[in-house]
Amino acid sequence: MRRAVFLSALACVSSCREAPEVVGPRHVVLITIDTLRGDYVGYSGAGKVKTPNLDRLAGGGVAFTETRSPVPLTLPAHASILTGAYPPAHGVRVNGRDRLSENHATLAEILKEKGYNTAAFIGAFVLDRRFGLAQGFDLYDDQLGTDVRLLENLEAERDAGAVASTFSGWLSLQPAERPFFAWVHFYDPHAPYEPPEPYRSQYPNDPYAGEVAYTDEVVGRVMADLQSRGLLERTLVAVMGDHGEGLGAHGEQTHSVLIYNSTLHVPFLLYAPGLIDGGRKVDAVTRTVDVAPTLLDYLGLPTPMGQGKTLRPLMEGRSDSAESVYSESLYASIHLGWSELRGLERNGFRYIEAPRPELYDLRADPGEREDLLLSRKALAREMQSELEQIEGKLEGDSTPESGAIDSESEARLRSLGYVSSSSPRPSHQKAFDPKEHMALWNELQIGIHEFGQRNYVGAIEILEKVLAREKDIPLVYENLGALYMQVGRHAEAETIYRQALARGMEDADFHVNLGLLHYRRREWSEAEKELRVALELDAGNVAALVHLGNTLRARGEPEEAISQYRQALEINPNYLYAFDGLGIAHSKLGQQEEALRSFREVVRLDPEGAQGHFNLAVQLEQMGRRMEALEAYRELLRRSGSGAPPELTRRATAAVERLEAPASKAK
Ligand SMILES: [Zn+2]
Repeated sequence: MRRAVFLSALACVSSCREAPEVVGPRHVVLITIDTLRGDYVGYSGAGKVKTPNLDRLAGGGVAFTETRSPVPLTLPAHASILTGAYPPAHGVRVNGRDRLSENHATLAEILKEKGYNTAAFIGAFVLDRRFGLAQGFDLYDDQLGTDVRLLENLEAERDAGAVASTFSGWLSLQPAERPFFAWVHFYDPHAPYEPPEPYRSQYPNDPYAGEVAYTDEVVGRVMADLQSRGLLERTLVAVMGDHGEGLGAHGEQTHSVLIYNSTLHVPFLLYAPGLIDGGRKVDAVTRTVDVAPTLLDYLGLPTPMGQGKTLRPLMEGRSDSAESVYSESLYASIHLGWSELRGLERNGFRYIEAPRPELYDLRADPGEREDLLLSRKALAREMQSELEQIEGKLEGDSTPESGAIDSESEARLRSLGYVSSSSPRPSHQKAFDPKEHMALWNELQIGIHEFGQRNYVGAIEILEKVLAREKDIPLVYENLGALYMQVGRHAEAETIYRQALARGMEDADFHVNLGLLHYRRREWSEAEKELRVALELDAGNVAALVHLGNTLRARGEPEEAISQYRQALEINPNYLYAFDGLGIAHSKLGQQEEALRSFREVVRLDPEGAQGHFNLAVQLEQMGRRMEALEAYRELLRRSGSGAPPELTRRATAAVERLEAPASKAK
């Protein structure tokens, strides 16, 4: 039904000569589709997938056919979209570690300043508010609504349909007279590929295409929603990928390490009837950093942003793009201890700086298979020197945050006998060219995937083999350690973390887990020491804060513990384990109301968790609120059923009998 409405509206827009008159404010909706390859849209003509909704937007708007992401990683790529800056300038280089500094003006901040209501609807934890992209948004909806116990998992995601309905709910509350800017993030095409029906059956041999087709359907829902509220004619819509997907090109299945067009080329389209003439294609090379400046230009708010440039002159035929396009991936250097990759695209050529550099003619060889480095030496040298100049300039402008630690922290780390995270990795590793080691990388990824699928034994087997072949990959230690922890092989976990540290790899999580291992052995001061080191390396590490709180509480310092839990909640207001610890600490101090409030939060965040209901019930009983306690015990038995630990079930059953007894006597 809704799609039909959208169809007829667009049919008119693209065929009616006269543009509809815009009354009232001009809204902006930015839709980023994660991991969307440039050739996986129907209108590209590549025939890989049907995307009728994107095709209609392209038909009524402008489709940019050669847009480049500067980096094949979700957080840095989105930081570039929102700031118009390349990663070296905004300082966000990898997922899960860096945070966008407050020093950078984002599209949301600029529009908020101009009186827009601003909101973001996020599909994956990798863009959680803690990573700094929430700045400027009145509402930053990053509640994934899935298992709260997985909230710290970078892979945690929310289905596109759920993101769209949250957006729709917000949209219905927008006042007519005020302009809004909404950013909607759909994560579905990201691996693992598990498209819902009918797309699973429609694309049996290409589930990635199935995910894209499903996301296209949801884009159609968003458009229909705008249309049915009479907003579509007054909205500037931008739809784009954040980066692409390898799908086997150059030996890369997903994205992150390599910087070819398989992961840098993304779809981008602009749709704004009455504002931007529709039905056109722009084949010049453009960049995702150009998106924000272009949107601002069309809104009549031209603002310089990072390295991005407005595409309006190009779109209106007043210039042809000759911008050099920078790209990078530091993933291999940060997570694998191998060389980083940086690239430059100019006049149809791409140069990639690596231990073995490469040069490709993108027009003659779009698959980037024939390396011209030796036959076009002069061009390669020229592009290399331009790349160096760009890098130098970008690094000069940069303001990195987190990841990089301050000098005081560094000095304290050294005094504790630790090398800091900024200390260089074993130098021979830098010579490892990522493209030469894709087989090893793929094997490592299979191990990590098996971990994600909870095949712990299988994952350990694969990662131990990888470790036997290559001893200096931080990611292997990280995952193997977490796996040993998961299956209770604590001694092996400790050994693997100590080995990593001895080889010069630093990671806050290594120390968090070492702290946890000491905590389990009731070695409070050793636990505290490790957890404080973790916090020196990563002050925003909520797990470190909570484990430190638990350690202090166990040692008989509940007030100190409370301060740690509160810090964790400042960083992540929905951190279940912080509320849990807070409840216990308050209870210990006899602060009954505070304890009760904390346990209620635990139950709210994790309604299926048996321990939460149990703690709440015990607390209520302690406070003499017998009927409520009874109800909480019953809730535990109802909700958690067979999943609850037998000991809790037994104690709750006994409590129900005990609490029911006086009531029946009174009858
Ligand atoms: Zn992404």
